[in-house]
Amino acid sequence: MATYIEVPSFKLNTGASIQGVGFGTWRSTEEEAYSAVIDAIKAGYRHIDTAYIYGNEHIVGKAIKDSGVPREELFVTTKLWVTGVQKAQECLERSVKALGLEYVDLYLMHWPVAMNANGNDPNLPSKPDGSRDIIPESEWSYIDTYKSMEKLLDTGLTKAIGVSNFTKEKMEKLLKETTVVPAALQIELHPLLPQQELVDFCHENKILVEAYSPLGSIGAPLLKTEELIKLGEKYKVSTACICISWSVWRGVIPLPKSTKAARIAENFKIVKLSDEDGKTVSELYKTHGVQRFVAPDWGVKIFD
Ligand code: NAP
Repeated sequence: MATYIEVPSFKLNTGASIQGVGFGTWRSTEEEAYSAVIDAIKAGYRHIDTAYIYGNEHIVGKAIKDSGVPREELFVTTKLWVTGVQKAQECLERSVKALGLEYVDLYLMHWPVAMNANGNDPNLPSKPDGSRDIIPESEWSYIDTYKSMEKLLDTGLTKAIGVSNFTKEKMEKLLKETTVVPAALQIELHPLLPQQELVDFCHENKILVEAYSPLGSIGAPLLKTEELIKLGEKYKVSTACICISWSVWRGVIPLPKSTKAARIAENFKIVKLSDEDGKTVSELYKTHGVQRFVAPDWGVKIFD
C-alpha cells in the first residue's frame, strides 16, 4: 500500500494561502469542465485554474457554485488574454462576471505578448499575409501590461496578480521596472523541462511557482518514461503521482488537468519523494533531452 501525504499549502507573498496541487481546466469542453470541476472539488481540490481563452469560465464558475463549498475556501485563478492587454480592467471584470464570483484570487498575464484587439479575430488576429497581428514591443510591452495590472489590485476584483510564460530575463526586467512583485509565475514545468534556474530565481524573490502541463500536456506523454514508471512501482503509486509529487517535492505547485473522475482523484494523491529520488527525476532531462510541449507560434520569440 502506498503511503500518501496530505497536499500541503503554500503562502503567496500577499500572505494568502494556496493549495499545493491545483486543478487545470484547459481544453475541457463545457460539459467536461462542469463535471470535472465538481469531481475535483469532491476529491479535495480547492485550487482551480482557468483562463478567459479556455472559454469555460462560466461553466467552471457554475460548478464552483453548485459544489456548495464556500467561496472563501477556494482559490480561483484566471488569466488576461493577449488581445486584452490594453484593457486589463475590462477583461478582469468580464472574467469575474463569467465566473459568477465577486473576485478571483489570482489574475495572471497569460503570455508576455500583445495582440491587436481590433484585428480580424477577437482572440488570435492575423494580418492579411497570415502572420500574427502582434503589437510591437516598442509600442506596448509586457511591462505596460503589468503596470496596468498593478492597478487592478485597487478594484478588489482580484486579490493578487502574477504572470505566466515568462523567462528569467523577463522576470528580472519586470522586477526592475515595476512596483508590485508578482505573487506567482505559471510556467511549463515537468521532469523534461525543470527550469531550475528560473524556479530558484522566483523562490529567492518570494514568487510562487506553478507548474503547468505537469504530465506533458495532451495525452500525458511523460507517463511513458521508464524511470518514472519504475519510481511509481517503487512507491506503489501511478506514474502521474510521481510527476505530481516531484513538483511538490521541489516547492512548485502542479496543475494537473483531467476530465476523468478516477484520474482527477488519483492526481490529488501525493507521496513524499526521497531527496535522492527527487534529484533523479530532476536530472531525467539530461538523458531524455529537454522537451517543451506548449510553444505556440506568436511570431515573436518568447522562450530562450
Ligand atoms: P497536463 O495536466 O500535463 O496533462 C493533461 C493530459 O493528461 C490530458 O490529456 C489528460 O487526459 C491526461 N491525464 C491526466 N491525468 C492523467 C492520469 N492520471 N493518467 C493518464 N493520463 C492523465 O496538461 P495541461 O492541461 O496542458 O496542463 C495542466 C493545466 O495547466 C491546464 O489545464 C491549464 O489549467 C494550465 N496551463 C496553463 C498554461 C499557460 O499558458 N499558463 C498552458 C498550459 C496549461 P484526460 O483529460 O482524458 O484525463
